[in-house]
Amino acid sequence: MLTTGSAFEVSQVSTEKICSIAGCRKPAKRSLKRDRIAESVTKSNLNVKDARSRKISLCADHWKTVKKVFKKDTKGERLRWGH
Ligand SMILES: [Zn+2]
Repeated sequence: MLTTGSAFEVSQVSTEKICSIAGCRKPAKRSLKRDRIAESVTKSNLNVKDARSRKISLCADHWKTVKKVFKKDTKGERLRWGH
């Protein structure tokens, strides 16, 4: 079945994610479930700007910061990211 003018929008930039940390406008490198990461973000003294979002996106810099706390919090759990 071929249709012209597909229902799907195949655009590259519309879904570009920006870091969720207030005041940060860098492109997001990681996106994590809010339930999972929110506490670590708070402990890192960072504020998330979109309070209603179910996911938190972090740029490389903020991910580095949050990861330190996050890893401590999840010590003992075996989690693999990325792969
Ligand atoms: Zn950031």
